[in-house]
Amino acid sequence: MENYKTRSGEISIQVFGHASLCIGWKGKNIYVDPYSEVRSYEGLPKADVFLITHNHCDHYDMDSVDELEKKDSILIVSRSVGQPDDRYRVMKNGDVCNIFEGEESMINVLAVPAYNVGKHKPDGTPFHSKGDGNGYILTFGDFKIYIAGDTEEIPDMKYFPYSDLAFLPKDPVYTMSDEEFIACANFLRPKYLYPYHYGRIDIPMLKRYLDTGITLVTPPVKTTL
Ligand code: ZN
Ligand code: ZN
Repeated sequence: MENYKTRSGEISIQVFGHASLCIGWKGKNIYVDPYSEVRSYEGLPKADVFLITHNHCDHYDMDSVDELEKKDSILIVSRSVGQPDDRYRVMKNGDVCNIFEGEESMINVLAVPAYNVGKHKPDGTPFHSKGDGNGYILTFGDFKIYIAGDTEEIPDMKYFPYSDLAFLPKDPVYTMSDEEFIACANFLRPKYLYPYHYGRIDIPMLKRYLDTGITLVTPPVKTTL
């Protein structure tokens, strides 16, 4: 687990493998894309917030949601997940909301686009179409975290607010190749960069090509299965 200081408290980050992670902030636990194929969540703190980026089964996994859910969990999802019942809050690309408004633990959530510009299925349709999925930019006091979801480098990124820390996907089939990942990271220039959604990783090579000022963070994945 890594900890990051902000002007209004500390943030902890725990990665679980694939695209699954948990952010801790002032006693709240925010789970992003929990996925039971990479681990069991039994024994972990329950989710105050779920952030689901899109409806693919490696991101929206009801078994994990069931395992982590409590009575007042907030479920924030993208358009492709939809609203099967009134627990779900759908955010479209560009939507903004505050959670825990009025509390010390308030978090601002901005839903941003996540989609393919080059990678597609054999029939030509993209694996991820614009508008279906979300990335999320979360603001904790004066610290921003960008969780990209399944995306390539997209023109929309020009308009994203700067994030101190970013999770960017790296896999050559559905999201970004090593070269594309490096180009995207060097464009966004987060202080802390977590590659995720990868199968293999060449850390020395990534470090060689990432701009100075970007710290690559690759904690060992705590898979329990
Ligand atoms: Zn996907
Ligand atoms: Zn995926």
